[in-house]
Amino acid sequence: MTHTLDHCNIVFESLENGTLVVDEECTVWSWNKWLEINTGIASETIIGNNLTAFYPELDYKGFQRKIRTTLRLATPTFYDASLSNRFITIPRKKVTTSLLTSMQLQVTISPYIPSLKRVMVSIHDISDLHELKMTLQHRMMEIAKLNSVLKQDKQIIDTNLMIVKTDCGCLITDTTEAFSHFFGYEKEELVGNSLSSIFVANKHDTEFLQMKDLLQKKQKWSGEMEVHKKNRQQVWMDTVISPYLDETSEIVSYTAIYHDITDKKRIELLSVTDPLTKLYNRQKFNEVFEEMLMRQHWTEDNTFGLLIADVDYFKNVNDTYGHQVGDAVLIAMADTLTGAIRTSDILARWGGEEFVILLPDMDMEKAALVADKYRQAIEQMNIPEVGLITASFGVTVFSKGDTQEKMMYRADLGLYRAKKNGRNRVESVLP
Ligand code: GH3
Ligand code: MG
Ligand code: MG
Repeated sequence: MTHTLDHCNIVFESLENGTLVVDEECTVWSWNKWLEINTGIASETIIGNNLTAFYPELDYKGFQRKIRTTLRLATPTFYDASLSNRFITIPRKKVTTSLLTSMQLQVTISPYIPSLKRVMVSIHDISDLHELKMTLQHRMMEIAKLNSVLKQDKQIIDTNLMIVKTDCGCLITDTTEAFSHFFGYEKEELVGNSLSSIFVANKHDTEFLQMKDLLQKKQKWSGEMEVHKKNRQQVWMDTVISPYLDETSEIVSYTAIYHDITDKKRIELLSVTDPLTKLYNRQKFNEVFEEMLMRQHWTEDNTFGLLIADVDYFKNVNDTYGHQVGDAVLIAMADTLTGAIRTSDILARWGGEEFVILLPDMDMEKAALVADKYRQAIEQMNIPEVGLITASFGVTVFSKGDTQEKMMYRADLGLYRAKKNGRNRVESVLP
């Protein structure tokens, strides 16, 4: 027996954790090296004495109950880790903060010599584990808080921002409530459909083609686009589309964010439109004209033309058929010219019964031919009540050092000559 005890003592001493033997009265019978080092109490001081004499804070009754349970069940039991700090206080030097704190202990009570009602108490320093647990708990709380904020943000975004997600083939994978509601769809109607086939009014629009091109190059596109709702109502959207790339830089999805700018567009359009003919007004024409003059690339070989068209004897139309019929003639003339011009030409109502057209990339010879083509188109109109009408044209082209005034003066001079030379004709004035 003694031999066995000695052997046990050797084992106790070498243990990397605190090990003591107590009886059910809490008298200490063994106190290992680890405990001596960490508590500062020598084994000869404490052995034979009651633990409570050294640790008055010890929950004596509770601890005693544990010892008895362990002996009765003849099986190891855990002393509640949350109470373990009240078991015995073992200081712990925290290197990081230099604060002296207590170790977090895990205490196991095992039957040792049941006949003497002695148990072996193992004390493990679980401070690191405890700290980790606390940090984890703290992080979990932070994550829970973040999740709740995210949930709220998501709700706000869902109801207020128009966002669509598509796969790399532009098939809709998700939309916000705000988006589907604005466009008059149920979300289920949208998911799985192609974004462009549902919303884009004109897929041959240069803006739309530019967007496709940029997105295919994995770049972000932003701009204004005209799209339609489920009820075919046309709306203007300020749009930002961003591709989402995976780690191999392949496009996996797109996110489109929309903002309704229909009202702004309407106002913008009104401010540049002639109310009668719906053509650009003089103000817009002047703007485009100025931009064209500012472009540096115009040379003698590559120039642009300016036409002024004026309805012949228009006063007669008004006088004979009334102002309203006169208006109808102006509208018909605007429609005819709109149908005749190239997409790059800029047509506007200059005022009264005068129209102006800018012809990019055109020399004098070509501009005169084009003017004559437009003149013929007008000549071929057959307006109810009025019958045939004609217009006279003045033509000029840009030359280095030109201003709007200079070009308008020359085109006007051409128009004057066309009138003087018999009307329904084109007269060119070289720079
Ligand atoms: P010419 O062949 O020399 O151009 O003769 P004209 O009768 O066309 O020329 P004039 O400039 O004398 O007449 C232009 C008329 O256009 C005068 C004006 O009452 C009319 N007019 C100007 N603006 C409008 C408009 O918005 N609606 C209508 N109905 N008439 C307009
Ligand atoms: Mg006139
Ligand atoms: Mg006239």
